[in-house]
Amino acid sequence: MSEPILSVRDVAVRFGGIVALDGISFDMPVRKIVGLIGPNGAGKTTLFNCLSRLYVPSDGDILFEGKSILTRPAHRIAEIGIGRTFQNLALFQNLTVLDNVRIGGHCRTRSDYVSDALNLPWSRRNEKQIDESARSIIDYLDLRGVAQRRVGDLPFGTQKRVELARALATNPKLLLLDEPACGLNHEEIEELGERIRHIRDDRNLTVLLVEHHMSLVMSVSDQVVALNFGRKIAEGTPAEVQRSPDVIAAYLGTE
Ligand code: ATP
Repeated sequence: MSEPILSVRDVAVRFGGIVALDGISFDMPVRKIVGLIGPNGAGKTTLFNCLSRLYVPSDGDILFEGKSILTRPAHRIAEIGIGRTFQNLALFQNLTVLDNVRIGGHCRTRSDYVSDALNLPWSRRNEKQIDESARSIIDYLDLRGVAQRRVGDLPFGTQKRVELARALATNPKLLLLDEPACGLNHEEIEELGERIRHIRDDRNLTVLLVEHHMSLVMSVSDQVVALNFGRKIAEGTPAEVQRSPDVIAAYLGTE
């Protein structure tokens, strides 16, 4: 088996007296979709924020492609190939869709461009490639018709798609999706499930999906990790996790 793209090792996070995460460990295999579930307050967002380096764990380590991410500043995490979306959209509402997606492209690594064949100074080549790549992601996510529209004028479901486009423009190897179904209608959620699978296949990505929408998580994930009160209570295939007595108890509140 190939090396995991991400290894979470004994991660603990404390906020004063509150233990938000308590010794969490799991591996994410390359090109798999991993669902992270748990009731409210289980620690999902805290873990997500550690993976994108917004938080530093009190204990433990997080390895991406074998190297700790904890020494890297949060604003340079996209460079190594970790992209994320936010539950509360992190878009520039007054800018166009295209400009928001281009901003994602500015986080890409310089090395992405070094080998290209264009004979232009690096900065011009960079801008040209960012623009081309942003337009191709916009097409890929069926956003061409709104590319020049102001994001703030678009329906919420479309804004969520722009957020996904912005994250893809960072050219991630690992994509962290924070409650992508939140606020979407039934049809949009079905479409999202298809999209997540296509994105993984077409772009060779590994995906971590934090989501409350159980049927979405269980239908798209290869593997599921369940948390409760900051601890890992189950890990396995969707069917295994759904059968876990600890998971059933956590959701039914009988523990
Ligand atoms: P939800 O599904 O409701 O978003 P969650 O699984 O994402 O919940 P977290 O938001 O990670 O859970 O919270 C885990 C625990 O840590 C909770 O008890 C929460 O109150 C606490 N917590 C989270 N962030 C902070 C913070 N900045 N300061 C203090 N406590 C916090």
